[in-house]
Amino acid sequence: MENITRLQRQTLERLLERDKSASVRWNDDRGAASVLSGKLMPPGSVRNDLKENPEAILKAFLEEFGSLIGPKNSSASIRFVKVNKVKGDQVRIRAMQVAKRIPIHGASLVLYASAKRGVFRAQSGCYRNVKVPPLEYRGKPVDIEQRERKLRRRLMRTLSGDKRGARFIKRKMKAGFGEDPIAEKNFPLNAPPVHWLYPKKGEFRHVFRLNAYQPIEWLGVNGELSASIHMVDMVVDLVTGRQLHQGGPIGVWSDVTADGLSTLQESGSYITRPLLAVREDMAERLLVNRTNSTDIFTHHAGGSDSGLETKLQNGTDLSTDTDGHWNDTTTSCTASDREDSQQPETDAHFFAQEAYQYYDALGWEGYDNGEWGAAACDVRVAAHIGIDDNAYFWRWVDGSGRHFGYLAFYDGECSGGSIAMDFMVGDPGIFAHEYQHAVTYFGSVDSAGDPGYLEIDGWHRAIHEGLSDSAAGLRAETWTAPGLWPNGACRNNLPFRRIEYPRSTDTKSGSGYVDHYDDRVSAWSPYTNSTILSHALFLAGQGGVHERTSRAAELIPVPGAGNADIFAIMHDAVTDRFDSIPANSTGVQTMIEAANLILDAAEDAAGGVRSCEYVMLRRAFYAVGLYPFDSSYVKQNYGGEACMLPWTISWRHSRPYLGFPAHWWRSPDLFINNGSGVEYDADVGVENDLFARVRNIGDADLTNVVVRFYFRAHGTALPPSSTAWKPCQDSSSTDCVLTIPTLAAGSMNFTNPASPPASQAVKWYLPASEVVAGVDHFCIRAEIECAGAANHDNDCPYRTQSNVSYTPLSLAHGLEIRFMVANWLDELIPLELEIDDRSMPKGVELHFAGPGSLKGRRLKPGEEVPLRWKVEAPTKAAAWFRPPYDGAVVGQITGKILKGAWFDAELSGVETLKKRAPRRGVVLIEGFLAGHIRRKNRKLQGRFKGELNTRDGTLTGTWNTVWYRRGKPYYRKLKIKAMLRPTRAIHFAQRIKGELVGGVTYTLRWPDKERRG
Ligand SMILES: [Zn+2]
Repeated sequence: MENITRLQRQTLERLLERDKSASVRWNDDRGAASVLSGKLMPPGSVRNDLKENPEAILKAFLEEFGSLIGPKNSSASIRFVKVNKVKGDQVRIRAMQVAKRIPIHGASLVLYASAKRGVFRAQSGCYRNVKVPPLEYRGKPVDIEQRERKLRRRLMRTLSGDKRGARFIKRKMKAGFGEDPIAEKNFPLNAPPVHWLYPKKGEFRHVFRLNAYQPIEWLGVNGELSASIHMVDMVVDLVTGRQLHQGGPIGVWSDVTADGLSTLQESGSYITRPLLAVREDMAERLLVNRTNSTDIFTHHAGGSDSGLETKLQNGTDLSTDTDGHWNDTTTSCTASDREDSQQPETDAHFFAQEAYQYYDALGWEGYDNGEWGAAACDVRVAAHIGIDDNAYFWRWVDGSGRHFGYLAFYDGECSGGSIAMDFMVGDPGIFAHEYQHAVTYFGSVDSAGDPGYLEIDGWHRAIHEGLSDSAAGLRAETWTAPGLWPNGACRNNLPFRRIEYPRSTDTKSGSGYVDHYDDRVSAWSPYTNSTILSHALFLAGQGGVHERTSRAAELIPVPGAGNADIFAIMHDAVTDRFDSIPANSTGVQTMIEAANLILDAAEDAAGGVRSCEYVMLRRAFYAVGLYPFDSSYVKQNYGGEACMLPWTISWRHSRPYLGFPAHWWRSPDLFINNGSGVEYDADVGVENDLFARVRNIGDADLTNVVVRFYFRAHGTALPPSSTAWKPCQDSSSTDCVLTIPTLAAGSMNFTNPASPPASQAVKWYLPASEVVAGVDHFCIRAEIECAGAANHDNDCPYRTQSNVSYTPLSLAHGLEIRFMVANWLDELIPLELEIDDRSMPKGVELHFAGPGSLKGRRLKPGEEVPLRWKVEAPTKAAAWFRPPYDGAVVGQITGKILKGAWFDAELSGVETLKKRAPRRGVVLIEGFLAGHIRRKNRKLQGRFKGELNTRDGTLTGTWNTVWYRRGKPYYRKLKIKAMLRPTRAIHFAQRIKGELVGGVTYTLRWPDKERRG
């Protein structure tokens, strides 16, 4: 306390006499107290003036302590500004210091007072001495008004001289100034500048303080410089015109949790998604997630993507909400209503965080992994760019060559007044697709080290799109783009593409895509070619069956090696290896090389070529014709490989297109046929004819293919190793072994399961002793060995299993079901049982019949327990023709084309449109029908629409088919008359630690009353 006057010291002593605990904080620079606290003025002296006359309190305070907080003549130079009520009766009185009637920047005085405590605190920024400099320039007096005009012209020049500024002026002039004539008159200022005294280096200067639109660079919350046009506050030296200070947008954000409603639904109501947001000073919430090392920003583009990049660069137009619940929804088709919905922002923000974490776990942060600059570029997502069923990834590049990516999503599309495609960003697959574009863009680098090596056209684009569709499927298990409502945005329309079966014309455009290299089209149709790659990754990850009717091996089954593992391999290839993909100009080589590099990544991941990931990727690339090629890209031989269709569950996404029934836990290639057709139930105490249909899916003959058979009690979790199963044996206790001496390239040991050659049967004797309490059904397994075949030299088992029980549809006394659940781990686990009885009609009830209760049930290590269930169902046949109507169709073609031909097919995804003639029990249905014409065994598929008689199952209508010859599609509209036998099955499946390990299927057998050819 050096700079203090005698008067000030005396005043201070007087205060301390009154209140010994009073305190003071002095400021030597200003020669005044900055804080005084204590009993400054007693309650009685302020009580009456608190509400009505706060100026009187200020006046009384200044009379007593004015000299302590500022100038000697404080009553004249400190002016009342305003009063704020703080809480209860407490108020805050604000005042400012002026000199020669000019306000002084920073010289404010705040008094705190209440009825109970009187004035208890004073805070001051005032000066004891203020020397006002003369208002002159080089000896001449300054004309303030002239200086004002000059300043305005200069600011206008700066604004219009900036590219962005010039555009801004145009827009602003068009938009107008609303009810603000002052702003209009003073543009680019919002009002005339104000004359102030500005403390600078121990003296005071005459300045203008003002607000004006100017091009500025400002530091964002992300720590990076941004450039934009903003209204900024400025301090300009009034005399010299020099700018002393310019402010930019600034926010103090605090992280808050929030939530919002999704585009998608669960059980008929919108899913609530947790969100991470920020809040600036207690104002509204913004969708900014700062929990990762790169921030995620979700923007509201306002219904258009024009000027979007500027908004993203400036960090403006973030999605906001006042209470932190983004819960405005809409099903309206009006553009403005859709723009008001907060569902897209909710989904965008949520999916971005989910994606971020997913890639982060693979060691990749955000879009670019921070590889092109000091920091990773922000993850920016824009919702509401207009009405369309589209979305995109794009980037901008700044002057120093840095690339900044963003994703943008349209609000969906309507047709006939209802939503055809919902908010695009609400589709998990579409979001994953666009996010992968960003990673692919930044992950593949050109020879100069810049991102974006995989170009945005030609075969490079096909790879780009193929990777994005693969990422969507592998991450979201959505293999149609977009997904079908309520799991995807496809509400009332067909998807654009079906990665699970690219050739399907059951798409929005009615055209199919390519699923084999030999069918490739011009490089300028990159989407059409992209599915060669994405379908291969679908097969290797999800698991599926590749169908090619012109190939000797019509079906190539690929059991999935796991979506997550295949994704990780793909990611490694993209971000670490794709830099050496041949240049776009080399054409199709690029996709062959992409397949090679993905195989390299799989080899490195497992330290060799023996893993299931490698083997399934190799088989998938072979199936789609991308493998093997030599170094001159000349096709090579793959070799022979023997396998069977695994149980249907593992290729469930292929099933509807191939025309097989939804009997999840059975394989069409492993069954019993004792002379009366295909069965999945063994007779006890006799020899059963057990068949394995083995396929050589390769292009070279195989010799000495050996199949061994095993069985075990019917159960959902059976031991992985066949050594824990019993070998099937004949009546003389000899193991059942099928030996196929020669299996030609592309052939099967037999083709028709209904009449298999006796030579291919093994005789399985099931002794009555195996049937014990709780076990009266069995699962069968077949394992293929093919010593000496190169493709078989790996660690991935060639194994197929059928866990199906057939029961006649006679339910008068209820049906009892028994199967085992088990735990093969060495720790206690909860029983996770899934029941799928969706194919049952209304009225069917399934009851658990013990033992014990299922609630909270645990399984000890090694424990196997038989569970009992009871199915109760209506006995009237008519009740069994209630929906759902997915099922087997057998019938004849009645129109001109193929007239009279018999076919067998499978109807899936059936929708009941409306009752045609309810009294006669006729309903109009639509669905996807796939199957074969018996004559020529020709494959047909397409949409069926027609009438179902629910009294007898007669189906009549139109089948819009497509078939292929040498890769070319042929379209035919066929008329059919057929019988529908809806699938009635109950599936039980067990998960262990979330992983699906197995299941059993109970199929209810329909009475044999069908049309036969
Ligand atoms: Zn794309």
